[in-house]
Amino acid sequence: MIDHVKIGNIPFNVHLANGIPSKDEDRGPKAYGEAFYHEGNIFIEDSQCEAQKRQVLMHECIHVILEQTGHAITVSEDTIVALGYGVTMLLQNNPQLVAYVCGKECEADHK
Ligand SMILES: [Zn+2]
Repeated sequence: MIDHVKIGNIPFNVHLANGIPSKDEDRGPKAYGEAFYHEGNIFIEDSQCEAQKRQVLMHECIHVILEQTGHAITVSEDTIVALGYGVTMLLQNNPQLVAYVCGKECEADHK
């Protein structure tokens, strides 16, 4: 697990935790992850398998992106779940896409 991620121009610390602190009292007691935008912290439930932790981290990053761009209340949780799984699988299945988006393909071409 990584310990930080930069979303937009904001650094977030990533913490593994047994029991996620919740900011939503109406939600059930079990959360797999939570992003605290103003504190710059993302918590990931440590009892999950590594594959699930990766997907949950992506899910929380998408929450932060939507918050930063003013869409936090216009996009449903179901859509964020779909994007979390979809984007995680897209990146995992296409390392050449990640390199291309990051501008790394030119570096590889010139070595
Ligand atoms: Zn969510």
